[in-house]
Amino acid sequence: MSNVNPSNLFSSVEQSRLLDELPDVVLILDSNFNLLWANLRAEEVFGVKAVDFIGHSVVSRIHPDDLEMAQRSFESMMEREIGNPIEIRAMAGSGWRLFEVLGRNVNWLSEGAVFFTFRDLTDRRRFEISHDDVARFRSLVQHSSAIVFMVSSAGLVQSVSGAITRNLGLDPEFVENRALSAIVAEDDWHILQSAMDRARDDTNATRAVVCCVRFRRHETQELVSYELSIVNLLHDATLGEMVITAYDVSARVATEAELQDTMRELRETFSLLHATLEATADGILVVDSNRHITRFNSQYLRLWHVDESMLLRGDDHLLISAILNQLKEPEAFLARTEALYLATTEESEDTIEFIDGRVFQRYSKPQYIDGEVVGRVWSFIDVTMQKGLESDLEHMAFYDGLTGLANRALFHDHLDHAITRIERNGKYVAVLYLDLDNFKTVNDSLGHTVGDDLLRAVGAALIGCLRRSDMAARLGGDEFAILIEDVENRHEVIHLAQRILSSLREPLAIRSHRVSTTTSIGITFGAAGSTSEQLLRNADLAMYRAKSLGKDRYEEFQDDMHTAVLAHLELEADLRRSLLEEQFVVHYQPIVDLSSKELVGFEALVRWNHPSRGLLAPSEFITRAEEMGIISSIDHFVLNESCRQISQWNALGLIESDLIISVNVSASEVADATLAERVSSVLRDHDFDPSRLVLEITESAIMTNVRGAAVNLRALKDLGLSVAVDDFGTGYSSLTHLGSLPIDILKIDRSFVEVGASDKVQPDLARAIVELAGTLQLRTIAEGVETEHQAEYLLEIGCRWAQGYHLGRPIDASATEILLRQRSEKPL
Ligand code: C2E
Ligand code: MG
Ligand code: MG
Repeated sequence: MSNVNPSNLFSSVEQSRLLDELPDVVLILDSNFNLLWANLRAEEVFGVKAVDFIGHSVVSRIHPDDLEMAQRSFESMMEREIGNPIEIRAMAGSGWRLFEVLGRNVNWLSEGAVFFTFRDLTDRRRFEISHDDVARFRSLVQHSSAIVFMVSSAGLVQSVSGAITRNLGLDPEFVENRALSAIVAEDDWHILQSAMDRARDDTNATRAVVCCVRFRRHETQELVSYELSIVNLLHDATLGEMVITAYDVSARVATEAELQDTMRELRETFSLLHATLEATADGILVVDSNRHITRFNSQYLRLWHVDESMLLRGDDHLLISAILNQLKEPEAFLARTEALYLATTEESEDTIEFIDGRVFQRYSKPQYIDGEVVGRVWSFIDVTMQKGLESDLEHMAFYDGLTGLANRALFHDHLDHAITRIERNGKYVAVLYLDLDNFKTVNDSLGHTVGDDLLRAVGAALIGCLRRSDMAARLGGDEFAILIEDVENRHEVIHLAQRILSSLREPLAIRSHRVSTTTSIGITFGAAGSTSEQLLRNADLAMYRAKSLGKDRYEEFQDDMHTAVLAHLELEADLRRSLLEEQFVVHYQPIVDLSSKELVGFEALVRWNHPSRGLLAPSEFITRAEEMGIISSIDHFVLNESCRQISQWNALGLIESDLIISVNVSASEVADATLAERVSSVLRDHDFDPSRLVLEITESAIMTNVRGAAVNLRALKDLGLSVAVDDFGTGYSSLTHLGSLPIDILKIDRSFVEVGASDKVQPDLARAIVELAGTLQLRTIAEGVETEHQAEYLLEIGCRWAQGYHLGRPIDASATEILLRQRSEKPL
C-alpha cells in the first residue's frame, strides 16, 4: 500500500466527481500495481466497488498473455510523462474486454503513481474487424504467435508485433528504432547480416529469404532459436520496408539436434559393429528369416575355407555342399541346423568335428528387431587347440607320462570297477605291487635319463608279460601295479609273478649300458567287499615283506603284515630322530694276520643304540636308511668316529702306527661324485694318514654301474687310501671288469670260507678267489672265520688276513681299548 491516503487524493469533491463523470475508466496505481483510486466508470465496468479494491493489485484482472506487455509498458510510463498507448485484455464485469490503455506518471500526487485511462475498444474493434480487413489484419498480426518486424532499409526496426513481448519478454519500445541485431545472439550476427543482404538484393517479394538465428530473451538472457523469413518490400510503394516474420523453431532445432546425436550414435554403433565383426576371431554368418545370407565376416570365409564369391553369388547349394564335404557327420549337422531354423527363438551351442581333425564350437542366436525375430546369427570358433589340450590333459590326468601306463588314479578307478564286477560274477581279482630293487642306485650312478629309460623298459617288459585283459600302472617312482581280473586260481597269478621276476632279471641294454634290475613283488587277492585302497595297501605290505626277505622275489599278503608295517613305520621315525640324538656307535672287529696272529687293523661296524630296542645290527636299519636317503650321514659318522678313535689310540701308544681301519661305504654313496671330497675332509680333520684307511664297497654296488664306480673309486684312490670289494663272490661280478677297476683288496665272503673249509665235495671257490687276486695283485681278507680249522684252511690257500668271531667279535670302543691295553702290557 502506498503511503497516500486515497481519500485525500483530491482536494475537492468536484475534482473527483469530474473524473467520475468521464466515459473512460480511470485508475491510479502505485508502483506495485496496487489500486490507489478508481472512478465511478471503473466500478461500473469492472463490477466492483472501488473501496473494496483499493490497496489490492489489479494484476489478476489482466489477461495472462498481455501481462508482460502491460508490465513493460507500465515500467516505461513510470519514467515518462506520457507513454505510448497499448492494447491489452482485461477481465471486466461482463467478461474479457479489449482496452486501449494510456498512462502518465503522477509523481506529484504520489511517488511512482501512474494515472491510467482505459478505453474500451472491444465493440469498436469488433465493428472494425467485421467491416475492415486492415483492422482485422492488424489484430491478427498483433495476436499472431509469430513476431512480425518492419525493418527499414538501414536495418532499423520500425515496428514490431505484440508477440515480441509474449515470446521474448521484450518491450516493443526497446526494440523499435534499433538494429534487429540488438536482440540476436552475437554468434549469429553474420547469419542475419548475410540474410538481410540477400533479401535487400533480391527484389522479388514472393521469394522470402529464410535464415535461422537465436534471439535473446529479456530476463533470462536465454537463447531461443527462430526462423526468420525476410521479405523485401523496400520498393513497395505502400510499405517501403522489409517484413521479417520470426517463428519460434526451438522445438524443431532441439529435435534436429537430438536426431543428429542419434544419427551419430547410430553411425558409431555401426562402425563399431563392423570393426568388431572383422576383429573377432569368430567366424560369423548372419542369415535372414528367408535364409538369405545378410552378413558374414572374413574370418567366416577363412574358417570354412569358402570363397567370398560363393557367398555373394547366393548359391546356397554350392555353399552347403562345400560345408558338408568338410564334416565328419554332415547329416547330424544338417539336421541340427534345420531344427534351429524352425525353432526361430531358440539359442544353441554345439560342437562340429571336421574330417581334417579340426573342431569348431558353434553358437547360434536369433536376431531380433523390436522384439521380432528377423534372422539368425551363427558364430563359429576354432577350438581344435583347446580340444587337443583337453584330451592331452585328460590323458595326463590318467596316464603316466614316462611309461604311457595308467597312473594311480586310473588304476584305482579300474580296480573299483573290477571289484564291482566280482560282486556279480563271484570271481576274484589279484593286485600285484612291484618295486624295483636297485632303482636308486641306477638313477644315482647312471643318471636320470638312464633311470627313465629303465622305467620305460620295465613298463614295456610288464606289458609283455600280461594278457590283454590285465592292466599295468605306474604308481610313481619305481613302483608299479598290476590288476588281474577274473582270477580262476591262485597259481596263475603266482605264475605271472614268476614270469615277471625272471623277465626283469634279464639285463637290459640301455644307452650303451647293460643294466640289470630285479624287482620285489607283493600279491594280494580281492573278493567281493574289498576296496581298492585296501587291496593296494595289502599288496604294498606284501611287497615290503618280499624286500625284507631278500628282494627279487614275490610274497603273498598275510594278515600279520600290518603289524610288521607298523613296526617299519616306527623304525623310520626313530631313525630320523637317532641322527639328531647321536644314537649310533661304532664297534671294532679285529683283522688279524693268520700267520703271525698279529693284529693288522679293525673293521668299523656301525650299531644303533636304540632307546627302547637296545643295540641294533646294521641289517635292521641300513636298507631303510638307504631308502630314506640318510645313509650318507651314518657313513660319515662312522668314518669320522673311527678315524678319531684310531688317532686317539695311536696317541695313547696303544696301537702301531701302520694299523689299518676298514670302513664300510653304502652302495648309494659309491655313485656320489662328492664322496671323495667328503672323505678327504675327514682325513684332513684328523690329520689321518690315508694309507691306513680302507673303504669297503660291496661288489653289487660296483657292478651296477661299473663305469661310474670306476671314476669315483679312482678319485678315492687318488687320496691315497685303499679300496676293498666287500662280500666278494656274491655280486655276480664280471671278472673281466675286475682287472680294470682301481681296487686293492678282495674281502672273501663268509659263505666261501665256510664251504671251502668244509670236507664236502664242492667247488673250492675261496681258493679260486685267492688265486685270482694273486694274478691281479690284489690282497685278500677272509670274512667270517669262526673256527681254527677255517683259519688254517685260509692260510693254506694263501689268504693271510682274516676276521671272524674266531679271531675277535666286533666290540665297542671301550672294550676294544681294554683289550689293546692288555695287549700292550703282555704282547702276544
Ligand atoms: P660286512 O661289511 O660284510 O661286515 C661283516 C659282517 O659280518 C658284520 O655284520 C659282522 O658282525 C659279521 N661277522 C663278522 N665275523 C663274523 C663271523 O665269524 N660269523 C658271522 N656269522 N658273522 C660275522 P654286521 O656288523 O651285522 O654288519 C652287516 C653289514 O652291514 C656289513 O657287512 C656291512 O655291509 C654293513 N655295515 C656295517 N657297518 C656299516 C656302516 O658303517 N656303513 C654301511 N654303509 N654299512 C655298514
Ligand atoms: Mg664290511
Ligand atoms: Mg662283508
